[in-house]
Amino acid sequence: MSLRDLVHGLRVVAIPSPTLPPATHTNTYVLGHGEVAVVDPGGDRREDYVRMLEQLRAGGERVAGIWLTHHHGDHVAGLKMLRELLPEDVPVRAHPWTARDLTPRHGPLQGDLEEGEGTLPDGTPVRILATPGHAPGHLIFGLPGGHWVVGDMVATVGTILIDPVEGDLAQYLESLERMRQLHAVALYPAHGEPIEAAEALLSGYIAHRHMRTQQIHQALETEGIQDEISLAARIYPELPTDVLGLAAAQILTHLLWMERHGLARRAGDGWSA
Ligand SMILES: [Zn+2]
Repeated sequence: MSLRDLVHGLRVVAIPSPTLPPATHTNTYVLGHGEVAVVDPGGDRREDYVRMLEQLRAGGERVAGIWLTHHHGDHVAGLKMLRELLPEDVPVRAHPWTARDLTPRHGPLQGDLEEGEGTLPDGTPVRILATPGHAPGHLIFGLPGGHWVVGDMVATVGTILIDPVEGDLAQYLESLERMRQLHAVALYPAHGEPIEAAEALLSGYIAHRHMRTQQIHQALETEGIQDEISLAARIYPELPTDVLGLAAAQILTHLLWMERHGLARRAGDGWSA
């Protein structure tokens, strides 16, 4: 696997990572030229970083910073490894929430990336948008020309999970809507290939979540009180039982959103419409 050019100032290498199937890799993006920033070192194989650094070095380039979209394990699994391989300490920059969460386990991080205008190590301007919902400190990075590195906001391999405890469906939907208004030329997700029809994809994501909410509401109306597991089994009948727990967590995320909107309420061990 070698670095692949996407557009000027943006390269990618997909690295095997401890992510959720069916995804098996996390895209590590390299931003800028010369003095570059590496985004989301989520792979857990040292040799992949050795090779990436060799390629950069061969081109006379140097890693001058590591930027994170969010704190999930499949985005930071290689952080320590990469830091150890670099000849000098470089700033690891993330949202303040992400820095607070990761510093105890991954060493010092700078929590100085927030929504607004930023600058890459090579001087390229970058737009930073805070997009909470999948993770509280989630950020996306906009390069000149409307090219956005979007972490786990969308994916072309696998699905985006919104955890009922640390995630928030209302925030996620709002973040997707803000992303839609960027009129991005392309989105570069952490899992899968780039997306050129950005607005169509984002509209589809938003519609899909509302469709799911409606499905749950309908199931509660027709079948009466149910818990998350029975709702998950009804709504995802094709799912193998070992991932039913994850599906139930997704259902709970929706139920919490519905509760806030008066569409569902707790009833004993389950939920009713
Ligand atoms: Zn994630």
